[in-house]
Amino acid sequence: MLQVKNLSGGYSDVNILRNVSFSVSRGELFGILGPNGSGKSTLLKMISRVLSIKDGEILLDGCALQQYSSKKLARLLAVLPQVTSEVFPFTVKETVELGRYAHQRGLFQTWSPKDEAVVQEVMALTKIKEFQGASLQELSGGERQRAFLAQALAQEPDILLLDEPTNHLDLSHQKGLLDQLKSWARQRGLTVVTVFHDLNLASLYCDRLLILNEGEVICFGTPEEVLNETLIQQVYKTALENHPHPEVPKPNIVLIPDPEWGERLTLDESYLSRNNEGVTFHSPVPLKTIASAPKGSGLGWKEKFVICKSRLLIEKNENTVEMQAYSAEQLYTHYAAYHEEGFSILIILTADCRLHYFHTWLFINGHVSENTLIEALITVSEGKQTALKEKPRPNGWEDGIVVAATQKGENLTTGRLSSKLGQTILNGMLDCSEKLFNSIKSSLSN
Ligand code: ADP
Ligand code: MG
Repeated sequence: MLQVKNLSGGYSDVNILRNVSFSVSRGELFGILGPNGSGKSTLLKMISRVLSIKDGEILLDGCALQQYSSKKLARLLAVLPQVTSEVFPFTVKETVELGRYAHQRGLFQTWSPKDEAVVQEVMALTKIKEFQGASLQELSGGERQRAFLAQALAQEPDILLLDEPTNHLDLSHQKGLLDQLKSWARQRGLTVVTVFHDLNLASLYCDRLLILNEGEVICFGTPEEVLNETLIQQVYKTALENHPHPEVPKPNIVLIPDPEWGERLTLDESYLSRNNEGVTFHSPVPLKTIASAPKGSGLGWKEKFVICKSRLLIEKNENTVEMQAYSAEQLYTHYAAYHEEGFSILIILTADCRLHYFHTWLFINGHVSENTLIEALITVSEGKQTALKEKPRPNGWEDGIVVAATQKGENLTTGRLSSKLGQTILNGMLDCSEKLFNSIKSSLSN
């Protein structure tokens, strides 16, 4: 539907775009990304013939762009420009009606029932009917954006070019617009080429993406191919990571803020409190946590870790992990810290004498990836299995596990048994369990 071949050009003598090539198929939702000033708007202006081509060519539906009459071009292609603050003194409906210009015939252009029907339809689609009589000047940025989108749609184009269409929209209107564009692309074969500011919106909605940097194409392909952590870091010159979307298999790029200097924290037993009813560990900062527990399971940021005999699930706090203790028996806790070069760990074990439960908390004073957290969890679980091998346990026992890290200090890249962290966890688990069993034994024999 759209082919751009070795395109170069820009404003007067300065070439902003250099040797840009890509193509977009009919019905595709195609996203253009790039840092500020990389030439995205310039590219859209060249495709919509606002700027002329210096070198190379643009083909629309197989024909060179220059060969189209303005009216024919307007029936094929509509543009939603980057919204500026300058506004014309038209009403919303008048603005939308302007979109029909290319479809009107004859010397004395007449307004046909078809024109009216299209205008009504696109106003309904963009949800601006209720303020169709209002002047553009009275509208919010987002409402104005939707009025201009309706104008573009009133052209009934085959290709829609959009420049940062979601910029002035709140979350629900962003989703509404993109869902709508996607369904028009799928159902009506509309080809959508849109500039995006937000990498993650582009990742969620576009079939393919193109990245521009300093007027050149860096790469184009599916979101998975393009939104590569290293490449995006280089182009945007900033620290970020890809943490795939939790619900759909799409890349999701997150910013990593600079660390706050001067912050030091070592988790130790001073954050632990115990009584006959339970155990609480209250960290002064949220910890990157993986947990298996009745409340607060999974991956997340947690601050408070609780084991209690009664009143389970009273905490409404999202930051809490809660486990249950068997109320008929006394509760035993043993903790120990293990120090290595660059990091340390704190293990806290809680059980009753018959091992109805054997809860393990592992706190890591160090920085871990999600991967390390999961490997550490597996190592904890192996250590626990070894420690409990010979121990008879009542039926229906239930154990909780927490592995949580401060995310300050040394980068720990793995938690596997073969690593320093893995070894420290395993030895710590065996040592700490044995001490817990001993204290249970001596308390029972007293
Ligand atoms: P983007 O949309 O990616 O942020 P633009 O395509 O608007 O970037 O701009 C690319 C470059 O072209 C920038 O360096 C900008 O300063 C320059 N530029 C933009 N508009 C004009 C103009 N009307 N005249 C001259 N230079 C311009
Ligand atoms: Mg721009």
